[in-house]
Amino acid sequence: MSMNTQQQPKFLMVAGGVISGVGKGVATASIGKILQEYGYKVTIIKIDPYLNYDAGTLRPTEHGEVWVTYDGGEIDQDLGTYERFLNISIPKHNNITSGQVYKTVIDDERQGKYLGQTVQFIPHIIQAIVDRIGKAAQGFDIALIEIGGTVGDYENVPFLFALKWLERTYGVGSVVYTLVTYLPVPGHIHEMKTKPTQQAIRMLAEQGIFPDFIICRAEFPIDELRRKKIEECAHVPLDHLIASPNVTSVYEIPLIFENQHVGPLFLKAFGLPVKKKPDWSLWQKRVDILKQKKNTVKVGIVGKYLGAGDFSLTDSYLSIHHALLHAAAESEVAVDIVWLNAQDFESENPSWHLLDDVDGIIVPGGFGANGVEGKIAAIEYVRQHNIPFLGLCYGLQLAVVAFARYQCGMPQAHTTEVNQHTSYPVVTLLDSQKIDMEQGRYGASMRLGDYAAYVEPESLTYFLYTNADRVLFKDNKPIIIERHRHRYEVNPAYVKQLKNKGLVVSGYSFDNNGTLLVENIELKEHPFFVATQAHPEFTSRFGDSNPLFYGFVQAIKKQS
Ligand code: GLN
Repeated sequence: MSMNTQQQPKFLMVAGGVISGVGKGVATASIGKILQEYGYKVTIIKIDPYLNYDAGTLRPTEHGEVWVTYDGGEIDQDLGTYERFLNISIPKHNNITSGQVYKTVIDDERQGKYLGQTVQFIPHIIQAIVDRIGKAAQGFDIALIEIGGTVGDYENVPFLFALKWLERTYGVGSVVYTLVTYLPVPGHIHEMKTKPTQQAIRMLAEQGIFPDFIICRAEFPIDELRRKKIEECAHVPLDHLIASPNVTSVYEIPLIFENQHVGPLFLKAFGLPVKKKPDWSLWQKRVDILKQKKNTVKVGIVGKYLGAGDFSLTDSYLSIHHALLHAAAESEVAVDIVWLNAQDFESENPSWHLLDDVDGIIVPGGFGANGVEGKIAAIEYVRQHNIPFLGLCYGLQLAVVAFARYQCGMPQAHTTEVNQHTSYPVVTLLDSQKIDMEQGRYGASMRLGDYAAYVEPESLTYFLYTNADRVLFKDNKPIIIERHRHRYEVNPAYVKQLKNKGLVVSGYSFDNNGTLLVENIELKEHPFFVATQAHPEFTSRFGDSNPLFYGFVQAIKKQS
C-alpha cells in the first residue's frame, strides 16, 4: 500500500493483563497527556470487544455511566477519561465495538462488496478493524488504542490480531505495545506476586505481540527484585517497567509516569524527537489542591440509589464527580462528595438534616419514576433554605416541576414521563416526538450530542460562560453549546406562567418546527439556583472546568 510517510500516524497499543478495573483507561489517558505535552497531536481510540453496537443500552450499574460525545455517540466512559485528561473532543467513531465491526462487514456483504468471495474472519473482519483504526488516527501524530478487557479474553483476539496487521500496513516501528498488569499482594502472604503478570505476557506473546512497556499496577510501587523477575521473563528493559501504585487522585498519574521518564522513553521507542519541553507546574498545583484536606467543600449528589453498593452509584455519576474535582481545583478547594439517596426525602419524615449538612446539592440526570418525588422535595428544600443547587437534565425538569407546584399554584404539576395524566404537564414530549415514540422510533425521539442555546445576556449563566470564554455568536446573538441526552422538554405552553412567577429562562433554543425549548433556568434572590437541560459534566476538563460547575463551587465557597 502506498502512503505518504509524512502523514503516517504512530500507534500505541494499551492492553490489560491479569484483571480488569485497574485503571487501564487512566493509564492510557495519562500516556496520551504526556505525549501531548511533548508537542504531539494525540488522539485515543477505545476498543470494546462486546457485541453491543454501542454503550447506549448497557446497564450503568455494571458498566458505569454512558458517555455522550459531541457528535451524539453513547459511549463507554473511558472516552470521558481521555477528554478530561487531554482537553480534546473525541468523536464517536473512536469507539470501536465488535458489534460495529461485524455489522459493517455483513452490511458490505449484503451490498455485494465482496461478490464471489467467501467472507471470513481473516482477512475481512481484521481489515475492517484496521480501516476503522486508520480512519480515527487520520490527521494525528500518535493514536493510542486501548483494548478493553484483558489479554486471554476470547473476544479481544481479533483486535490483537488486527494490531499486527496495522504494523504490516504502516510499517515496522509504527506500533508500540504496552501491557498494563496488576501485581496482587495476597493478604495471607503479604508479598507482591509477579506470576499473573508473567502469564499475561505469555498470553500476549501467543498473539505474536511482545510488550515494549509494562505498566505495573499495584497497591505499592514495584520493588527491584520483582522488576528483575519481569525483566527476565518478558525481555523488557528495566526502565520500561513503569510503576503505577495506588494514588489519591487519578490526575497524579501523569506526574508519577513522568518521574519515570515515560515521555522521553515512549518517544524514543517511536523514534520521535521531543518537540516541546513539558511544563507540569500548573497540573501539579491543581493535584496538590485536590489532595489537601484543609479547604474542603461538601457537595451532595441526590441520586437514584441503585442498591448495588456505593461503588456502582459513584461510577454511574463519574463525569459529575470529575467535573466537581475540576471546578474545585480551579477554585483552590478540595471537594468531598456525599451520595444522597433521593428516597430519603420521600418518607413522612424526610431526612432534611442530610441537606443541611452539605454545602450544596446537585440533582443529576436520570430516567423514570424512581426517586423522583424525593428529588423534587430536595430541590424545594434547598430553594427555601438558600442552599446552592445545580440541576442537570432531569435535574432541570424536576426543578421546573417543583417551581410549578410550589410557586405557581399547580400542586399536581409533573413530567409526563412519570405521570401521563397530570393536569399540569409542565414537562412533556413534544408532538413531533410523540409520533416518533408511537411508531417505535425511540432513537429518533432522543436529543443526543451537541446543541446550541441562545443565552440571555443579563443572566448568571451568561456571566459564567463569558468568564470561561465559552460563549459563541450566531446571528449576532450569544450562544452556548453543550451535550444532550434526553427526550422530554419543558412544556412551551407553561413557559409564560413560569416566567411570570419569577423563573428566569436564561437559555433557550428552537426545534426544527420552531418550538421554544427551555435550555437553562435560574432564580434570582438565591445564592445559586441554576439548572440546565444539557449535561455540562461532559465538557469539563482538568484545567478547563465547565462554567456551571465552577460557578456552583464558587457560590459554595462564597457562602462558607
Ligand atoms: N428522563 C429525562 C428525559 O428523557 C431526562 C434525561 C436525563 O436526565 N438524561 O428527558
